[in-house]
Amino acid sequence: SLFQPEFSANSAAVRVRFGAGVRHAVGEEMERMGLGRALVLTTPQQADTGAEFAARLGARAVGVFSKAAMHTPVAISEEATELARALRADCVVSVGGGSTTGLGKAIALRSDLPQIVVPTTYAGSEATAILGQTENGLKTTLTSAKVQPEVILYDAELVRSLPVGMTVTSALNAMAHAAEGLYAQNRSPISSLMAIEGIRAFRDALPRVMDNPDDLAARGETLYGAWLCGTVLGQVGMALHHKLCHTLGGSFDLPHAETHAVILPHAIAYNQQAAAAELAPVAALFGAASAGDGLYDFAVAMKAPLALRDLGMAEADLDKAAEIATRNAYWNPRPLDKAALRALLQAAWQGDRPA
Ligand code: NAD
Repeated sequence: SLFQPEFSANSAAVRVRFGAGVRHAVGEEMERMGLGRALVLTTPQQADTGAEFAARLGARAVGVFSKAAMHTPVAISEEATELARALRADCVVSVGGGSTTGLGKAIALRSDLPQIVVPTTYAGSEATAILGQTENGLKTTLTSAKVQPEVILYDAELVRSLPVGMTVTSALNAMAHAAEGLYAQNRSPISSLMAIEGIRAFRDALPRVMDNPDDLAARGETLYGAWLCGTVLGQVGMALHHKLCHTLGGSFDLPHAETHAVILPHAIAYNQQAAAAELAPVAALFGAASAGDGLYDFAVAMKAPLALRDLGMAEADLDKAAEIATRNAYWNPRPLDKAALRALLQAAWQGDRPA
């Protein structure tokens, strides 16, 4: 049972539409909100997609800005906000993954413009009021209702082009939000329901996507998982897994999504004893002895990266990583123990099954 004798739950007022082809409803959604001047956002790699959106919007698009970048550099956000002002844009339309959504949020923070997000990965940023930004190599994170996107259009047709490698790491990234959400201090029965159903959706649909990346029904179900997992991230606090990935990404320049994929089974296994009841549904979903085992076997089956050494991490840096990861205290179901974390990192470095 997911019943808790005491809890509080907060949900954001977000409009979500789901369906193949629903990306074409951007204009309709703008009209519903009384908006008529969109600035379309993408990364340089998805500039063509941005141009297609602008073409379809016609006079309702006042420009396309295609410089969204990983970790939301402040200089780019300021340039985009200036452009939005100069063009008298009355909303942003973010088409892409977490990087593009981050840019839209950064503009909203500075201008209060409403956001319509059309996600093309499973990262889930579109469903949160969280914004991570970087300036002078430093990443800071804030939470503000100002950055919560107002409308999300989930269109499976757009996710079909996500390369297979990114599909897997992005999915595991999303599943990590749900897995950690299950033992969050501020979880609720609703966030737990969403977390379990989100992991279930990926468990069922990701293998079908791997068999056939063009399978629209399977892509749609993974996107449904992304929405659920992202919504969990927006409602509850994260713990060991996210802090560890933050440390590894920030201090050793490891790739974001791949690092999440490698660490997930190990971080969950670390918390197994302390959160046995909360993690039991994950073990059950995978028919495994424990949640960590189930997630590890799933990662193997999905051909996900399994070892930090394959991501460019030096074994000599593991001591330092364990030290940094315990430097700032934060809540975790199991207390942070430097020696135990060092052992976790060794196993993750080698790609071993979590202990
Ligand atoms: P991304 O947005 O950086 O995309 C990676 C690359 O893939 C880009 O070049 C992009 O253009 C391309 N791409 C995206 N979708 C594609 C598609 N369907 N077809 C072809 N190419 C496509 O990657 P991401 O993993 O979605 O986002 C990562 C970023 O999001 C990180 O900075 C992370 O910190 C942030 N994030 C923030 C939150 C939050 O709540 N604030 C949540 C999750 C992630």
